[in-house]
Amino acid sequence: MTTAKTETLPQTSPTTGKSEQWMEKAKAHLLQNYKQQPLVLERGLGSRVWDADGREYLDLLGGIATCALGHCHPEVVVAVRAQLEKLWHVSNVFYSEPQIDLAARLTAASGLQRAFFCNSGAEANEALIKLARKVQKDRGHADRYEIITFQNSFHGRTLATVTATGQTKYQKGFEPLPAGFTHVPYGDLDAVRKAVNPHTAAILVEPIQGEGGVRVAPVGFLKGLRALCDEQGLLLLVDEIQTGMGRTGKMFAYQHDDIRPDGISLAKSLGNGLPIGAMLCTEEAGKSLVAGTHGSTFGGNLITATAANVVVRKVTEPQMLKDVAQKGEYFLSRLRELQARMPTVVKEVRGRGLLIGVELFQDSAAFIAKCREFGLLCNAAGEKTIRFAPAYVVSHDEIDQGVRILERALKA
Ligand code: PLP
Repeated sequence: MTTAKTETLPQTSPTTGKSEQWMEKAKAHLLQNYKQQPLVLERGLGSRVWDADGREYLDLLGGIATCALGHCHPEVVVAVRAQLEKLWHVSNVFYSEPQIDLAARLTAASGLQRAFFCNSGAEANEALIKLARKVQKDRGHADRYEIITFQNSFHGRTLATVTATGQTKYQKGFEPLPAGFTHVPYGDLDAVRKAVNPHTAAILVEPIQGEGGVRVAPVGFLKGLRALCDEQGLLLLVDEIQTGMGRTGKMFAYQHDDIRPDGISLAKSLGNGLPIGAMLCTEEAGKSLVAGTHGSTFGGNLITATAANVVVRKVTEPQMLKDVAQKGEYFLSRLRELQARMPTVVKEVRGRGLLIGVELFQDSAAFIAKCREFGLLCNAAGEKTIRFAPAYVVSHDEIDQGVRILERALKA
């Protein structure tokens, strides 16, 4: 698979018409709730995917920060295949080994003591929200139920998590929204302090606002939130759904700031594409969610937990996080060179590790379409920012290729 070949291949190969047929069928039957790119993807390997017509693409989006080890990572395939032939699902009324193993690995990696498993990011955040309310009730503060979150944040699509989300475009039409969420400007410690009131239970924060345009928290912000929470008796909840599992060059992004949250949410990269989410919390907080208070039918079943165990094992190998950090620096530096060549087109390049945003001076949609036409997959985070969240196995050559295609698209 050479670079030269893949840069000309996707656009020039004749279509068999299979993709068109599938998209017609999709239009007839799927709920039209996504703005989908016109691409029917059929198979993948590492950072490459192929569409239904056999065209090859360089995937620097990785299922939006989800396929951390790359598509069809051989060790995940082997482990999941073996588990598929043993046992899939037993319900959480029984114990299962992969789930217990996963809890042990995640608690060791995070410094938190308790793990709860679910199926998605929104559910993991729901668990955090319920945890915060229940902890405050158990502490004797029945009136402390409010969660402070941030403008431009994204926490999910359930009613509670879409209300936690600090973007009205996701909430419009679904009113009345649940009570108990306040949004303040991201990075503004004074605003957070002013928003704390006798009803405040917790602060929920993304270390990097992913959907909000890949915006990294200012230095000292998380530490400041930790101190404020300690002073006011609040829980600090960190949404690591997009940033966790090594994406930023540390296992969890809060570890860059040397803090310990009371609870964190995980999903996306945790299962390398299989649907698993997790809520991790301290021993003290975890005591509030006693038997019967929370649960999930599929949460952490044997198949998804098996995939997640491989992810955690691979990401905790000493070289992996170094590689993510180094490749992230390399990608950022190549993009900053591109910015220097095109200062009237590229406004800012930002990110950490392999979660990167390229903000343009104009809407990014047409450029993302051009990238796809030239064989590169990425997406928008906010209106003007192009997001890259490739697999950790992405090579330097693939990063170079991606930057070359992006430049071509920006010039087209
Ligand atoms: N929180 C963050 C930071 C996210 O990026 C996302 C998804 O993009 C979610 C929560 C919601 O996750 P899910 O779509 O798995 O419910």
